[in-house]
Amino acid sequence: MEELLGTIFDAFPEKSTITFKGRCSDCGDAVIIDIVPTLGGFGLLGGFFVEYSTNKYVAKCSDCYKVNSKMVEQYKINPNDSPIFSKEDFLNSMVSLH
Ligand SMILES: [Zn+2]
Repeated sequence: MEELLGTIFDAFPEKSTITFKGRCSDCGDAVIIDIVPTLGGFGLLGGFFVEYSTNKYVAKCSDCYKVNSKMVEQYKINPNDSPIFSKEDFLNSMVSLH
């Protein structure tokens, strides 16, 4: 995950915050995550990312992450709206760049 976030900031070196908008893999709610570089790596505000498999990630809202910080078997709420994204999807989904 650190590597993915590093790639994103490499792509937008002038940005201090990058906002991800997606859906929680567990409850299906919209999740908005602000990613902020810190001295030790990256800070996440509003949710978390979980690695699903190589170059595949899901987002989780804070509540679901507290319940289960690991990837669940499958997206259960709305299987047609897959929350799994790749690095490329991730870059494309950056809707708000400050
Ligand atoms: Zn959730």
